[in-house]
Amino acid sequence: MTQSVYRTPKGTHDVLPEDHIFMTYIKKAVRHRARQAGYKRIETPMFENRTIFERGIGEHTDIVEKELFMVSSKHEDEDNGPEFALRPEFTASICRSYIEHGMQQLPQPVELYAIGPCFRHDRPQKGRYRQFNQFDFEIIGLKDPSLDAQLIHVLSKILDDLKILKRLRLQINNIGTPESRKAYLDALKDFFIGKERNLPALDRSRLETNPLRLLDSKEEDTQILLKSAPTLDQFLDDESKQYHETVLEYLGALGIQYEENSSLVRGLDYYTQTVFEYWDETTGAQNAVGGGGRYDRLMELLGGKDTPGIGFACGMERIAWQMAQTGVKPPNKDQVDVFVAQLGPEAKKTCLMLISQLREKGVHTIGALGEASLKSQMRLADKFGARYTLLLGQMEVKEGVIILRDMAAGKQKQIPFKNAIPEVTKLIGERNLDTYTIKDKIGDTVDED
Ligand code: AMP
Repeated sequence: MTQSVYRTPKGTHDVLPEDHIFMTYIKKAVRHRARQAGYKRIETPMFENRTIFERGIGEHTDIVEKELFMVSSKHEDEDNGPEFALRPEFTASICRSYIEHGMQQLPQPVELYAIGPCFRHDRPQKGRYRQFNQFDFEIIGLKDPSLDAQLIHVLSKILDDLKILKRLRLQINNIGTPESRKAYLDALKDFFIGKERNLPALDRSRLETNPLRLLDSKEEDTQILLKSAPTLDQFLDDESKQYHETVLEYLGALGIQYEENSSLVRGLDYYTQTVFEYWDETTGAQNAVGGGGRYDRLMELLGGKDTPGIGFACGMERIAWQMAQTGVKPPNKDQVDVFVAQLGPEAKKTCLMLISQLREKGVHTIGALGEASLKSQMRLADKFGARYTLLLGQMEVKEGVIILRDMAAGKQKQIPFKNAIPEVTKLIGERNLDTYTIKDKIGDTVDED
């Protein structure tokens, strides 16, 4: 076996403690803004019947054509292949859940959010992984331009909370109804008749399967040809135009800056009308941190009733990267307050209790409790970054005292053993103690992880 077997699979990564500080902080901002705006959390399975994605997202989209991770089951159908696929995003799953649980009976709109891993069999590169985390917001069951604006507002608030909004630029477009889009696509196809030879192979096949994708093609030849091609806005129906104007007006009223971008189409079949993305100012689409749009026909594709919806998703790894670029350091709550060092069997037993009591008080406490010398325990305390060390040797046990050392100041003093806990908690400060209390009465919201 080669060594690479013992590494993370290509395109995946461990979220190490130092990365988790970012992830936890992002989730906190998401939950906070979701609660403020009345969104409820939903969790769907990590894999679904693959038809949900194929029908919902579209068979000729990159996500489905190239990027679905299939899940084989024992009872695989010989003709159709695997029955399931890992979710590449949340929207189709959440819409499936809305239909399955009869959420149309609830007061509309139903506002849901989700946080969790998604999977795409992408070619891995910086900011593009095969397993990554998204947070996702959806408003289902009611259509109004004010909902589009409110959804984008929540997203902009989250990005602002995370101190990265200034690095990003909102791109927005309206891609019309499926009917107006079809008229446009016919015109686009007509335009390319006789010009196919000038298109790169990938775009030539897209012209057949999903011509809208040509608009955000990265190929220079395609972009040159597109300069004289008909544009989508020439085919927009009046209702879509009016809708777009109103969304922009509301965004303005909410103080949200945007850039109209007529070539923004988003890759998926289910979008109608409003589409948007937040781009890094410097790298553009390559580094979109999030995006979304309206999907008024998706429910029908998934066997439900005609139900409007709008949503967005953001990549948490990309957001964390943006935060790191701005130098944002989320508060690290994993700091070690106290290291307990001991020597001798009596001291060890006493410290076992002391550690437990300090922890109960909400003091982050560690103690090696090994047999190492006091000197090497002190070195360890230093390496762990402990703020204070409590030191108990055989002598101290006999005399009923303990040594308290301030690690940064390099100063220590002897105090009565019984004062150890009150003294330490005073030094750390009551409000910095990490105690867990269920403050809220049952029925109220409790902060979950
Ligand atoms: P999409 O709906 O494809 O635009 O995805 C929404 C967001 O998820 C993107 O803006 C990215 O931040 C993130 N994302 C999508 N695909 C990946 C990936 N392969 N690796 C990391 N993040 C991704």
